[in-house]
Amino acid sequence: MQFNSVLDNLKTYEAGKPIELVVREYGIEAKDVIKLASNENPRGCSQKVIEAVREEATKMNLYPDDSMYELKEALAHKYNVSDKNIIIGSGSDQVIEFAIHAKANANTKVLIAGVTFAMYEIYTLQTGAKVLKTPSAQHNLKEMLELYKANSDISIVVLCLPNNPLGECVDTKDVYAFLDEIHPETLVIIDGAYQEYARFKDAAKKIEPSDIIAKYPNTIYTGTFSKAYGLGGMRCGYGIAQPEIIKALLKLRAPFNITNLTLKAAIVALRDQDFVDASVRENFEQMKAYEAFAKALGFRIIESYTNFIVLEFDARKNSGEIAQKLMEKGIIVRNLGSYGMNAIRVTIGTPEQNSRFFECFKTLYM
Ligand SMILES: *Cc1c(COP(=O)(O)O)cnc(C)c1O
Repeated sequence: MQFNSVLDNLKTYEAGKPIELVVREYGIEAKDVIKLASNENPRGCSQKVIEAVREEATKMNLYPDDSMYELKEALAHKYNVSDKNIIIGSGSDQVIEFAIHAKANANTKVLIAGVTFAMYEIYTLQTGAKVLKTPSAQHNLKEMLELYKANSDISIVVLCLPNNPLGECVDTKDVYAFLDEIHPETLVIIDGAYQEYARFKDAAKKIEPSDIIAKYPNTIYTGTFSKAYGLGGMRCGYGIAQPEIIKALLKLRAPFNITNLTLKAAIVALRDQDFVDASVRENFEQMKAYEAFAKALGFRIIESYTNFIVLEFDARKNSGEIAQKLMEKGIIVRNLGSYGMNAIRVTIGTPEQNSRFFECFKTLYM
């Protein structure tokens, strides 16, 4: 059968391997498998969320409130914007999809960093648009600006702040200087999936959505409940932008794209900031152990502003083999070989999970 030809260039997104797969393939008991591959919160989520969702489960027969009034109000309050500045998605992934689909077309290009979140490219190719990447793997705004000035057909620029899968984060003042150079007709997507982590570690990395959309009406900020809030399985994210952009994106949204359990979970999660704060604090305490470990074993890391860390190997080691051997021992990490890197990305786990990773890794690496 012939399909839309844009699909010919598209690969299916490869998600982190689920625990169930390792149980089936390697016969390891589920309780002995640790997943450090998808940047989930190893502490789970707020207990208050679990209780609220349990209660909400009695309403499963009813469609959710499609205006999403309560969640929008809560987000508007948190970010000091109006509900007209907010769109809710099934994960921030869906908001990014709407944004790219609303703006890109076969005559345009989308500019991204050399190694960044894979979905930007997939959503772009779905529209028939082309992807332009900087030569540098990490965000390099100088290179981005050069490419931007040399290509008048760029309709979207995506900045991942901080960047997945590498973990680096550009300073906010440099982002603003970059935005000064961008034409008001170009949409700039600022993916803040890990902002809770970055702004805790270094205030110079903090993006304030209300400020950025006021100064630069051509930007959209996206955030998620999947990482610091520990709700990856609930699928909830949001976009914050000027009403003109939100209105365009809403045309792409199907009704009831969020379940009522998800709405409840997100609303209650926002009220329990103590949970998020504790998660972020522990994350960076634990990250120190990874930094010390890398130093002791003599391999490179990329300084991370997120809940994961990239370990880079020299030519004597192969990241694919290391990831495979770890998996056979029940530890799932992300091999970055497909990005042309000899590196793995490891989500910072609980202290116990991290200790097991270190022990296991040492026996493989030595
Ligand atoms: C995890 C992640 C997202 C969004 O995840 P959702 O679960 O769809 O909210 C978006 N961008 C980046 C860079 C991510 O790592």
